[in-house]
Amino acid sequence: MLNIVLFGPPGAGKGTQSEKIIDQYNLVHLSTGDLFRKHLGEGTELGKLAQKYMDEGNLVPDEVVIGMVKDKIATTIDPQGFIFDGFPRTVAQAVALEDMLNDFDTSISGMIALDVPDEELKTRLLERGKTSGRSDDQDESKIDNRIQVYKNETLPVAEFYENQGKYNKIHGVGAIEEIYLAIRRVMDGL
Ligand code: AMP
Repeated sequence: MLNIVLFGPPGAGKGTQSEKIIDQYNLVHLSTGDLFRKHLGEGTELGKLAQKYMDEGNLVPDEVVIGMVKDKIATTIDPQGFIFDGFPRTVAQAVALEDMLNDFDTSISGMIALDVPDEELKTRLLERGKTSGRSDDQDESKIDNRIQVYKNETLPVAEFYENQGKYNKIHGVGAIEEIYLAIRRVMDGL
């Protein structure tokens, strides 16, 4: 199995690049943000629980996220691999992911980290907010908080994979196709 962690701050282009990668490599796209938004839309208990965190741009508690990912992995039939998008966002989530994959005799093949400067992220998120319908993309203070939460709580996850020799940084500014080609070069070497 090929299991990729696609990593980067909000607005780095993880969703856009994931779409291209899953087509090419036949992987299952597991985006925790998308899963939460689906629960929210369906009005489930999990959605209601996650909403207050998402509205402020804070992280949903680890045990909730981990449970949801476990469920998704366990109910995916015969996957060729996963692309994890927006997960893991804390070291505790990264450790839990290792355990989950271990149970299926597999592991993370590599992390691909999209590197984008803060100012560019803010511009992109506000632009996306005009059409995404996401309230967390429409408010500058919420965007600032999401970037800060990324730096404080999520960046240590990069170090976690760096220590395992699995970290690959990609410059995430420029044409979507160019960035995708850089990702493919890394993936083809895994
Ligand atoms: P995203 O679509 O990845 O930007 O996620 C939107 C929101 O969902 C985040 O701001 C968090 O509130 C929540 N969320 C998504 N993934 C995670 C995660 N792995 N851990 C905690 N919260 C998450």
